[in-house]
Amino acid sequence: MEDTHYSEDELIERLYGVGRPDFHLDLCPDCAARWRQLTERRRERLGEREISPDLLAGQRRAIRAKLARPEPAPGWASRPLVALALAVLMGLALALQGPVLRPEAVMAAVEARFFEDVFREVSRPEPRAVAPVYALFETKGEKR
Ligand SMILES: [Zn+2]
Repeated sequence: MEDTHYSEDELIERLYGVGRPDFHLDLCPDCAARWRQLTERRRERLGEREISPDLLAGQRRAIRAKLARPEPAPGWASRPLVALALAVLMGLALALQGPVLRPEAVMAAVEARFFEDVFREVSRPEPRAVAPVYALFETKGEKR
């Protein structure tokens, strides 16, 4: 029985694993020769870009080893939803906190406040201890 020869398109389809599911290439020397030509041309084109079988085998071994390893117990950090929720909460906390104050900025503010207090104390004509004495005499209408 002589079925139809492969067209160029059908041979290319076969390269990608689709197309006619038959044994024509085993039976027809013409199509088998064209098939060999096509696969050789393809190999030349791809050249070094063809992935080495060793590399693929290594990858398969790594995947198999990973699959064989027992699944680690789910800790809180390994649960993606919990980690995502924590990240969102931390982001919110940072956003609500406003700009982050550097320690130097905080110290400068504390020092400024301290000098302000000292200056107020020094610029007052009488010490703070005198104030209760004024209250005893009830100085009406007098603004100090
Ligand atoms: Zn043929």
